[in-house]
Amino acid sequence: MNQIMMIAGILLLVLAFAGCGEEKPNIVIVVVDTMRADHMGAYGYHRDTTPGMDSLARAGTMWTNARGQASWTLPAVTSIFTGRSARAHGTGINVSNGSVYGVGSEIPTMATVLGAEGYNTAAFFNVFLLDEQFGFHRGFNTFNCHPKGLGRAGETMDDALGWLDEQNGDDPFFLAIHLFDPHDPYAPPAPYDTMWGDPSRNDSVWIFTPEGAIADPEQNRHLKDRYDGELAWTDSQMSRLLAGLRSSGMAENTLVIVTADHGEEFLEHGYGGHGRTLFEEIVHIPLIMSGYGVPRGEVRDCPAAQMDILPTALDIVDVEHPDELRGIDLLSGSVPEIRAIPASGVNTGPPFQMASVTRDSFKTIWYPESDTFELYDLRNDPDELDPISPGEVRRERVLSYWSTPRAYPPRPVEGSHIGPACGIWVISR
Ligand SMILES: [Zn+2]
Repeated sequence: MNQIMMIAGILLLVLAFAGCGEEKPNIVIVVVDTMRADHMGAYGYHRDTTPGMDSLARAGTMWTNARGQASWTLPAVTSIFTGRSARAHGTGINVSNGSVYGVGSEIPTMATVLGAEGYNTAAFFNVFLLDEQFGFHRGFNTFNCHPKGLGRAGETMDDALGWLDEQNGDDPFFLAIHLFDPHDPYAPPAPYDTMWGDPSRNDSVWIFTPEGAIADPEQNRHLKDRYDGELAWTDSQMSRLLAGLRSSGMAENTLVIVTADHGEEFLEHGYGGHGRTLFEEIVHIPLIMSGYGVPRGEVRDCPAAQMDILPTALDIVDVEHPDELRGIDLLSGSVPEIRAIPASGVNTGPPFQMASVTRDSFKTIWYPESDTFELYDLRNDPDELDPISPGEVRRERVLSYWSTPRAYPPRPVEGSHIGPACGIWVISR
């Protein structure tokens, strides 16, 4: 009997020590607003805009064929943090009645799922669309959202690095950062403001005619130069974060994810900014993962989506999601070569709504008000200039996406309303 108790005691001790050795990895995700993939060095851009994020890509894995689920911040960021398409989570604008919806109060998010697993969770965000009223605070122990965070990448990184300094390794952490700077107006601090283009020009916002057209097409080149300066400035702050992680000794045990909510248009299809179309300049986003659990030096061209980020991150840190998600683990051995990636958008005028499905190098876009479909062959028409008529199967895929059921209701945002101003939807309170 004594022997049995001794063996049981030794077993318990072994199990206890095994438990102590199991340190859960940390997760850091940075969502850079308005960062189109093809303006980053790692994605082949001719300017050295993003050396810090490029080095992260080289040290980890980058996806070259990743697409966002929406054309603007609120629904796209929700897709990143809930692992669901825009139709599935329902966050955004209901154009029929002008209501605005935030993240539902019951839908599991990256913060609520990791928080329930004992993670210390913190968010440093930079636009009011990601604040408490829009439901983004749920699950975060520390929540800091600056309502007008343009130009605050430096201060935001100060705050995030200060919070990281306080982490003593007792609990794993989940740190979420949203940097707003590449969003217009394009006004990076010196020396990034004159890094490219004409240093004598300092206009930083689009000038529209009363009809909503771009008033000065020459302005496009200048704004693009300034936008690239914003990317370089934001990248310099990303480099501070990466250096901070390395010097803290936590880098090896931390999964780092960098992505964007959507891209930006520079007159490719007649518009400036975002939120008006679902062309590649808007939906083709960067996706980089590095650190814990991520293969080094890999470039993957399989189709990827914002809604894959949550299931991939949870699989890496071995945490279960309570629901079945349509997003997939991008690092599993069975990532399909062909799959349908959906997106949704809104606009100020007809067509008010749009939805798309990209599959096997073909993008089908549907405009519900006019019930018209366009098909683009991304391999032979990468600039999406020659729409053709899609067949029944492709149409059905978009309609099927449009009727995606919701497992959780989105959150009505009290006191918010929408209206067109300067040619774009403006949400105000
Ligand atoms: Zn955005």
